[in-house]
Amino acid sequence: MPALFRVGDKVNTGQKISLFADDPAYVIATATGRISSISPFTGDFGKSYLAVTISLAGNEILDNEFETVVQNPTLEGAIDFLSYAPGKPQLSLFSDAQHEIKTIVINGVDSDLLVGTNQYIVKSKLNKLKSGIQLLKTITGIENIVMTVAGESLQGYGHLGAEVKTVDTAYPSALPRLIMKNALGQIVPAGQSCEDLGVCFFSAEAIAAMGTAFDSGRIPITKIITLIRKDGSQNLIEATIGTPIEDIFATHRITVNEKDRIIFGGPMRGLAVYSLEHPVQPDTDAIMVLDQSQAAYASDYPCINCGECVRTCPANIQVNLLVRFLEAGQYEEAADYYDLYSCVECGLCSFVCVSKIPIFQYIKLGKYELERAKTSEGTNG
Ligand code: SF4
Ligand code: SF4
Repeated sequence: MPALFRVGDKVNTGQKISLFADDPAYVIATATGRISSISPFTGDFGKSYLAVTISLAGNEILDNEFETVVQNPTLEGAIDFLSYAPGKPQLSLFSDAQHEIKTIVINGVDSDLLVGTNQYIVKSKLNKLKSGIQLLKTITGIENIVMTVAGESLQGYGHLGAEVKTVDTAYPSALPRLIMKNALGQIVPAGQSCEDLGVCFFSAEAIAAMGTAFDSGRIPITKIITLIRKDGSQNLIEATIGTPIEDIFATHRITVNEKDRIIFGGPMRGLAVYSLEHPVQPDTDAIMVLDQSQAAYASDYPCINCGECVRTCPANIQVNLLVRFLEAGQYEEAADYYDLYSCVECGLCSFVCVSKIPIFQYIKLGKYELERAKTSEGTNG
């Protein structure tokens, strides 16, 4: 299949880049210049991606194709241009025949410790959130929109156009399955998703980005990131999507030594990245750098059945049993008999494990492998 873009082609800021005509995957160019490489890179769990590198031109030129979408907002137009906007709104869920979405939850509370990205958006971009909420209603026809905010006070949100609910700031209360239970009064059964119950979740940043896009006619290309330094201090930065993390570290004077660990996400749920060229992605809410002396490297110690993980698990899973099946790669058994799908992915079990077993990573891998097997069965069948 001939590629639509090649090395050497010119691109403008905000231009949609689809590599192949029949492939729905695309990225939005976040800079003006020429494509200098299209190369594979490996993401979480060995998934392969293509990275498009742009050599910057002197002057920025803005692409104007999105302006035609703004004149007449539709779901298709939003899916076509905003699926990789900051916060990565999962707009394709609304056109997925398997789920009938009736409620949209906008999560204004970050889902990991030390991360403050979405709380900042709620505080600083209320007008953009309001625009985004109006837009969501227009393009989906869904009126039942709930926004979660941190803490006790509900003052100041009256004009938003969403029902505002507070979420306990104690971790892990802001995870979707716990919001379903505690704020919406719905328990998501094991093996089912929030979408199966007609509820989908968006981050506050995603909705504010949609509001900004339609208010300005330009697709936002920068996002807010909580930068967590080796000493645990945090600050919020704004970075262009696609920026290699080495550039961020250079700008913010962070030195990364050979065995230090770089995590995309927070301390409980983040995943390690292994290259300083790794780009900021639309849903990178936090980047954390751990000094090698703090990094809890996985050990070869076996489970000693101390029960700490079981006591801490908010989903009441027998984690000590679950982990044995996950370690052995027996994912179906882990799902059928040991509640893999009841896991809310909080990471507390890994945190407390005295044997430093990377339980959370095993859980993510197990779910990923089962999903992959299901998708390939669907494709082959
Ligand atoms: S990540 Fe661990 S502690 Fe959290 S819900 Fe899943 S099994 Fe339980
Ligand atoms: S915390 Fe770790 S060592 Fe203790 S029971 Fe759980 S898996 Fe085993």
